[in-house]
Amino acid sequence: MKKDSRVNHPPQAPLPPGNRPVVAPVYQSVKFECDDIDATLRVVRGEAPGYFYSRNANPTLRQLEQLLAELQGREDCMVCASGVNAVAQTLVSLSKAGDHILCFLETYSPTRQIIRKLLARFGVTHTLLSIEDLPGIERVLAQTPTRLVHFESPTNPVTKIADIAAITALARRHGALTVMDNTFAGFHQHGEFPVDVFVHSLTKFASGAGDVMGGAVIADRELLATMRPDWNLFGATLDPHAAFSLLQGMRTYFVRYRAQSASALAVASFLEAQPAVERVRYPGLPSHPQAALARAQLRDAGAVVSFDLRGGAEAGRRFAEALELFSLTASLGSTESLVLPPQMMQPRDFTAAQLAACGIGAGTVRLSVGLEDIDDLRADLGQALAAIDRA
Ligand SMILES: *Cc1c(COP(=O)(O)O)cnc(C)c1O
Repeated sequence: MKKDSRVNHPPQAPLPPGNRPVVAPVYQSVKFECDDIDATLRVVRGEAPGYFYSRNANPTLRQLEQLLAELQGREDCMVCASGVNAVAQTLVSLSKAGDHILCFLETYSPTRQIIRKLLARFGVTHTLLSIEDLPGIERVLAQTPTRLVHFESPTNPVTKIADIAAITALARRHGALTVMDNTFAGFHQHGEFPVDVFVHSLTKFASGAGDVMGGAVIADRELLATMRPDWNLFGATLDPHAAFSLLQGMRTYFVRYRAQSASALAVASFLEAQPAVERVRYPGLPSHPQAALARAQLRDAGAVVSFDLRGGAEAGRRFAEALELFSLTASLGSTESLVLPPQMMQPRDFTAAQLAACGIGAGTVRLSVGLEDIDDLRADLGQALAAIDRA
């Protein structure tokens, strides 16, 4: 072999039997080959285990998928390029023209756009209720044949708690599938409820470092298999290197999630005692309007705390801009603390009544609490609250 050829066919260094790496390698390869055509076709047709093309399957992605499925308590998982991608592909692959989706005012804004704009173009209808309106959910499911119920808990940003047992029971009774975006609660919670499909943004708690984007859909094998062919056509594959970073992030997932939940509770309690703060919403606080339901459903209450400033939008602006340890940006669940002011959270597609029901007020601020020292966080929040009155 000439050297020009050799660089394209470098020597392989396979591990001997019985020897393996402790950290699995990144399979940064688009293509996989077998020894002959028949063996290749068996892999391509799914008749034999193996890999062929990374748009459809890759061993590094598969490792992440198996881990997440096991944590969430379902048989299978498919990871993809982002959380929004996981939501979009799930809703598209489970619906067709003429289907009806029940969804909620408190839903993550891009998910609302997928249902209200994108799917509407293809003849999928929807009803938008408040997640607190259980009689409404019962009425809609009884009156309108419904394919999917899509919901979240705790909701963004005001941490309302969906009654998962009630919603899944009503959906089952009326023949609807439930899709739950479980990004806020994480992979270790809510698995005991009969939710049909869990979707997650891996960009948040899975990574922790906030350096990669990803999404996951987790369900039992048969249901996921019905969605897979569509997904292969959308082609929004996760890069193996991103999957590797996410696997590294998952090693500290439980330590981070619990430490951030403990700090978030400390931050929420601190804020509750401040005169500039009208009310605080955190699922771990005894004062949460659904504290009993939150306690029954959540072992760890999460990193997101939201609260209302008495001074409204202007106070929110001064407070958020005065913070030093909290980055003024989107996302949540990362190891650094984040803040979103009211100006960056007000939904623009709501009527006045819908706006009132969704719980985002003129002075609503959302925090995602990270892993900084809790005394530093309290001091920063204290000086930013003081800055509201200094202007
Ligand atoms: C962030 C988020 C998403 C979208 O995830 P990306 O990875 O940013 O695309 C979906 N749902 C919820 C609840 C989120 O917080």
